[in-house]
Amino acid sequence: MTSLENDQTPQKEETDKLVENSTEPEENTEVVEEKKYFTCSSCNLREEYEYFGQEPPYTKRYKLNEDCYVIEDPFQPPRQGEFIILGAHCQDCNKPICRDSICSFYYDGTYCISCARCKKFSFPSVIQEKLNKVVL
Ligand SMILES: [Zn+2]
Ligand SMILES: [Zn+2]
Repeated sequence: MTSLENDQTPQKEETDKLVENSTEPEENTEVVEEKKYFTCSSCNLREEYEYFGQEPPYTKRYKLNEDCYVIEDPFQPPRQGEFIILGAHCQDCNKPICRDSICSFYYDGTYCISCARCKKFSFPSVIQEKLNKVVL
């Protein structure tokens, strides 16, 4: 909620569920999910992803600061809270872009390289230098 309008509802309750390390009910409900694929608009990398959003279900420790395509880390044992970010949407043009340094640049959010080039001069000079190394 970012807009502060004159709310008619007087009370807004922040219903943040405080889930602590409680016992997770092991349910054997096999949900047949459709496979979802992330495709990078730059290199055409296509990967199956498991979760899109800011709070990967694998861990409660992190909250991502943007919506990302996420999979559980296949190289770690499950339920370790390890995950891999496949990509995100460019902050500027909103294209899906992978985390490869030839495709995207991260500064306060993910940018595709072409948008990063365009926006370069609005970045702090330290970031510009970093970007120059990657892009040029
Ligand atoms: Zn890519
Ligand atoms: Zn872009």
